[in-house]
Amino acid sequence: MSNYSAKYEIVMGLETHVRVKSNTKMFCSCQNAIELADEPNTNVCPVCMGFPGMLPTLSAGVVDLAVRASHALRSDVQEYSEFDRKSYFYPDLPMGYQITQMYHPIANGGEVRTLVEWVEKTFRIHHMHIENDAGKLVHAGGKTLCDYNRAGSPLMEIVTEPDFRSKADVLAYLEELQKLMRWCGASDADMEKGQLRCDVNISIRPHGSTTFGTRVELKNINSFSSIGRAIDVEFERQCEMVERGETFHQETRGWNDEKWFSTPLRSKEDAMDYRYFPDPDLPPLVIAREFIDERSISELPIDRRMKYKNDYKLIEDDARILSNDRTTSDFYEQLVALTWDPKKSCSYITTVLFAIFEGHTEKMWLQDIKAETAEIAEVIKMVNADELSSTNSKAVIEKLVFEWGIAREWVESLGLKQTNDTGALEAIVDAIIAENTGQVAEYKSGKEALFGFFVGQCMKKSAGQGNPKIFTEILKKKLS
Ligand code: ADP
Ligand code: MG
Ligand code: ZN
Repeated sequence: MSNYSAKYEIVMGLETHVRVKSNTKMFCSCQNAIELADEPNTNVCPVCMGFPGMLPTLSAGVVDLAVRASHALRSDVQEYSEFDRKSYFYPDLPMGYQITQMYHPIANGGEVRTLVEWVEKTFRIHHMHIENDAGKLVHAGGKTLCDYNRAGSPLMEIVTEPDFRSKADVLAYLEELQKLMRWCGASDADMEKGQLRCDVNISIRPHGSTTFGTRVELKNINSFSSIGRAIDVEFERQCEMVERGETFHQETRGWNDEKWFSTPLRSKEDAMDYRYFPDPDLPPLVIAREFIDERSISELPIDRRMKYKNDYKLIEDDARILSNDRTTSDFYEQLVALTWDPKKSCSYITTVLFAIFEGHTEKMWLQDIKAETAEIAEVIKMVNADELSSTNSKAVIEKLVFEWGIAREWVESLGLKQTNDTGALEAIVDAIIAENTGQVAEYKSGKEALFGFFVGQCMKKSAGQGNPKIFTEILKKKLS
């Protein structure tokens, strides 16, 4: 915690670029280089290389995913939007301009709700627009090389309102954004792979002030850990300047994560004139209302998380784990719908199934389970109906996971059906008492810890099929 934080408040707004996970690039049929692993300049065509006479054609896959992402951001998807040219000259930009949406973006407004240190917070989204990416410059051996595999790949730029007041706010927002993008399938949003890049606008003001200070935009922040560092350093820098009585101007700075400081890139005064104007090669993007509505998303990870915690009474950790990704969450929802038992459905996922996955040599997840979800639910129902002991249920689950089948048939064929026949169980208890006269005497003289031993012996004699609850009742009666 900085010395200045008692005096000054930090105010931040984020501009985040998320790579769209479409099959093709934004305006041509080149494969979308999601990870940039190919040989340089193999993933290019006249369109994304900006050759004379080329004509861009908007990819429907990009629109599809951008609409899904807008819904995940609770943003208002526009039936009408437009593409503009943003002109500048840089070797990684083959066309000499970027195609973006300056005046009429695809989505306006919205919000991201998340938990920051267990408190629910909402960060407002200003808008989201789509644009194409530039290529990549590779500096090697005193030379600069250009790789255009990434040129023309689709990006979503998500701009927030200046709603962030701490590093924790920013990190919580970015983690939630990543979850949302994966949830709706628009992007894997992996920061290490450059699929999520973030510029942070930072200003400070005295606590209690209602106006905003001059902002500095920090670029080139490439990992979750460097965001934290960059914010801390910039906060200190601005506080020191204000303390020294210096005024400063709005500027853009580049973060250097090796040296832990930022350097000026450009100030407001020498801001580039991008000469924005509507791209004459592209018609306005008109999206049918039904296309938009069909892609709406009813529940988001945060909604599920709060429901699990507040309505299903799960502990915070379980609520989080079960709402992180859509596969796990949808699987859990199905189990609850079938069993009406949120707690046990949770523990069968987080303890039984996850332990099975962990113990397996190959990496596996819920979608790799061979059997139907209804059969996993059937196991839980049998346990609840005292037809199967919870110990034995694990063997049945294992069979269902690796071999498929019907839960009840596995219980039969493995001989695990729980016996609730009191007469038969009573005979077993009598036999155990007769075989262990020494322990019975010790128990009666006060060594109560032995009770578990008797239950264990009864379970063993019944080959695991006796109902432990009934054994316990009979033993209590007979040993008192
Ligand atoms: P521009 O279009 O010039 O980049 P915007 O007004 O769209 O400027 O703001 C860009 C980002 O900066 C937004 O995320 C916004 O929330 C944030 N921002 C604006 N004013 C401030 C401020 N005073 N302090 C911190 N962030 C700010
Ligand atoms: Mg900006
Ligand atoms: Zn291309």
